[in-house]
Amino acid sequence: MHHCVCVPEIFGSDVFNEATMKQRLSVEDYNVWKQCIQNGTPLELNTANAIAEAMKNWAVEKGATHYTHWFQPMTGITAEKHDSFISADGEGRVIMEFSGKELVRGEPDASSFPSGGLRATFEARGYTAWDPTSFAFVKDGSLYIPTCFFSYTGEALDKKTPLLRSIDEVSRETVRILRLFGDTETKRVQVSVGAEQEYFLIPRTSYAQREDLRLTGRTLFGATPPKGQELDDHYFGAIRTRVSKFMSDLDVQLWRLGVLSKTKHNEGAPCQHELAPIFTDASNACDANQLTMMVMKKCAAKHDLVCLLHEKPFAGVNGSGKHNNWSLCTDSGKNLFKPGQTPRQNAQFLVFLAAFIKGIDEYQDFLRCTVAFAGNDHRLGANEAPPAIISIFLGDELTAVVDSIINGTNYTEPQKSLMRIGVDVLPSIPKDTTDRNRTSPIAFTGNKFEFRMLGSSQSIAGPNIALNTIMAEELSKFADILEKADDFDLALQKLVCDTLTQHQRIIFNGNGYSEEWKDEAAKRGLSNLRNTAEALPNYASQKNIELVTKHGIFTEAEFQARQEIHLEAYNKLIIIEARTMVDMVMHQILPAALRYSSDLADGINRKRAASQGTIKASAEKALVQRISDCCDTLYEVTEKLCSDTKAVPLDSSAAANYNSTVIVQDMQAVRECADLLETLTAKEYWPYPTYSDLLFY
Ligand code: ADP
Ligand code: MG
Repeated sequence: MHHCVCVPEIFGSDVFNEATMKQRLSVEDYNVWKQCIQNGTPLELNTANAIAEAMKNWAVEKGATHYTHWFQPMTGITAEKHDSFISADGEGRVIMEFSGKELVRGEPDASSFPSGGLRATFEARGYTAWDPTSFAFVKDGSLYIPTCFFSYTGEALDKKTPLLRSIDEVSRETVRILRLFGDTETKRVQVSVGAEQEYFLIPRTSYAQREDLRLTGRTLFGATPPKGQELDDHYFGAIRTRVSKFMSDLDVQLWRLGVLSKTKHNEGAPCQHELAPIFTDASNACDANQLTMMVMKKCAAKHDLVCLLHEKPFAGVNGSGKHNNWSLCTDSGKNLFKPGQTPRQNAQFLVFLAAFIKGIDEYQDFLRCTVAFAGNDHRLGANEAPPAIISIFLGDELTAVVDSIINGTNYTEPQKSLMRIGVDVLPSIPKDTTDRNRTSPIAFTGNKFEFRMLGSSQSIAGPNIALNTIMAEELSKFADILEKADDFDLALQKLVCDTLTQHQRIIFNGNGYSEEWKDEAAKRGLSNLRNTAEALPNYASQKNIELVTKHGIFTEAEFQARQEIHLEAYNKLIIIEARTMVDMVMHQILPAALRYSSDLADGINRKRAASQGTIKASAEKALVQRISDCCDTLYEVTEKLCSDTKAVPLDSSAAANYNSTVIVQDMQAVRECADLLETLTAKEYWPYPTYSDLLFY
C-alpha cells in the first residue's frame, strides 16, 4: 500500500514550537518568552503558568495524558519520569492540570544517576528545569519537556547545562571579535551543528538469542564469516525493502518531532546505515540527536529489527561513529567559517581559523577525552576511524594560504607569495568534496569543521562543550590583544601570523591511518592517548580546570566529578562485558561444544561396534581431539578472566588501567578460543546465531 506524506504539513506537528506558541499564547506572554530566550533571563512565574496551560491544552488535544521532564544525565542517554496531568477535583472526578511550577521545576527522584560524588546521599535530589530555548513535544502519549538537571546547590548533573553555558560563552567572545571588524548589529552568535549518525540494523529474532548483544550492545564472540565487507557491495548500495520501510517510517516520526532528517544511505559494513540531519543550533542539534537515537530504536522494533548504536557491534567489520559538523553563525545567518569575498571578510575568517587552530592544538587532550569511551576504543586508531591523535585537515588550498602567511615572516625568502591579511584577497577556497580525507579527526569542509572522532552511541554534548569553550578562550585572548591595538591591521597581521606559526604542528593533510603519522606526530609533540584508560586521567588536568572554570562552564568540583563518572562508566562496562563472556562460556559455549564432542564420541563407538572395529572414523576422532583440547584451553582462560575480574583495584584510574590491559587481554584470549570452537562445532549445536546469520539475513 502506498500513501502520500505531506512533509511540510507533518513537519514539527508534534512540537510545541515557535509557530504554535505564537498561535496559542497571548501576544504579551509570547513576547515575554521571546525576550527571555534572546536575553537568557529566567521566566517569570505568571508567564510560565500561561505557557504551561497552553502547552497542556495543546498536548491533551494531541492525545497526551502525561508529561515528563526529559533530561540528559551523565549516562549519555536521556532520562524521563512520567507524571499524569490528572488532579482530583475533590468530588471523585479528575481534571487535567499542569502549572508553571511543574513546567519550570521538577524533582525526579534521581539518586541513582551518576553524579561523580557531587551530591551527598542525605540530600540525593536532583532538580530539572525547562530550558525555554528547547521546544516541548508530544511522543507516545506524553508531553516531553526538555530540561536541565542540577543539584540542590545548583551543580550541573547533566550534559545540557554545560552545553548551554558554553554556547553563551562562545557567543559573547565571538561578538567581541565581530565588533572589532565593524559589525555593530550582531547580538548573538549561534553554534551550528549537524550530527551524522551511523547505526546497524539486525533481525530481532537473532538479537534475542544473543546474550552479549542484549547485555552489552555488541557481539563478544563470533568467528569471521566467509564474507565480510571486502566486496564493498553495501556502501551506498540499493536499500533493501525491509530497511527502506524502516527508514521511511523513521523519517516521518522524526519530521513530526521537528528533527530535520535529510539524508539516508547504506554504509560500509553490511547492515550498516547512516542518517544525516540538516544542521541547526547546537542545543537543538543535541536534543535532535538524542531523539533520533531513541526513535531509531523504537522504530526498528516495529519492523522486527533491532537498531544497534554500539561503536563496534561486530569484530572485523567497520564500527559506527558520529560526525559532528560544527560552525559559528551570526543571528542574521552569516557563517563565520566561510571564507569571504573581500579582504576585510577574509581577515575576519583568518582570525576565526587561527583561533580554532590554536585552541585545538592547546587543548588536544580535552577534546580527545570527550570521545574517550569503552566502545570507541575499538575504532579510534584501528584503521576504520581517525587515529587517537588529534590533528586538523585543511585541504590543499587553505594549507597554501596558511603556509604563505607563515612564510611571510621568513626573512630568508621575503618575496615568497607574502599574504597581507586585510589587504589581499584570499585565493578562492572551493568546498572540498572530492578529496575528502576520511582519516582526519577534524576536517575543514569549506564552511565548517567536521569532528569525526565521536562514537555512534555517545551524546554530542561533550565535544561541542569542548569546541565551544576552547573557541571562547582563544577568541577572548585575541580580543584582549586586538581591542588594545593602536594599529589594528598591523596587530592583526602579527597575531594571525604568530598564531599559525606557533600552532602549525596540528595541521596534517596526510594519511592519518599510517604508521609514519604516529612517528611524525610524536616528533611534533602531539599527544597520542591510545585508549580510554590512557586518556581520561588527563581530563581534569590543571590546565583544563583553569579553562572551564574561567569560562564558567564547570566548577572545579563539577569537572572533577565528570572525570570520575566517565572512568566509572568505563570500568563498569568492561566488567559487564567480562562477566557476560564468562556467563556465555559456562552456560552456552562449553556445554554446546562438549555435547557435540560427546555425541561424536558416541558415534565413533557405535560405528566401531557395528563394523567390528574396521571403521577408522578418523574425521570424528580428529574433531573430538581438537574440540576437547580447545574446551580445555577455553575453560582455563575463562577461569583466569573470572578470577581477574575479582581483583580490580579500587582507585578508578588504576582500575581503568587494569581493565584496559589485564581484563581486555583475558577477554581476547577467551574470544579466540570460543571462536575457534564455533568453527569446529556443528551448526545445530551452536547456541547462538553466527555472524553470517546476523549480517547476511
Ligand atoms: P557530506 O558531509 O555528506 O558531504 P554536507 O557537507 O553537506 O554533507 O553536510 C554534512 C552535515 O554537515 C549535514 O548534517 C549538514 O547539515 C551539516 N552542515 C552543513 N553546513 C553546516 C554548518 N555551517 N554548520 C554545521 N553543520 C553544517
Ligand atoms: Mg560527513
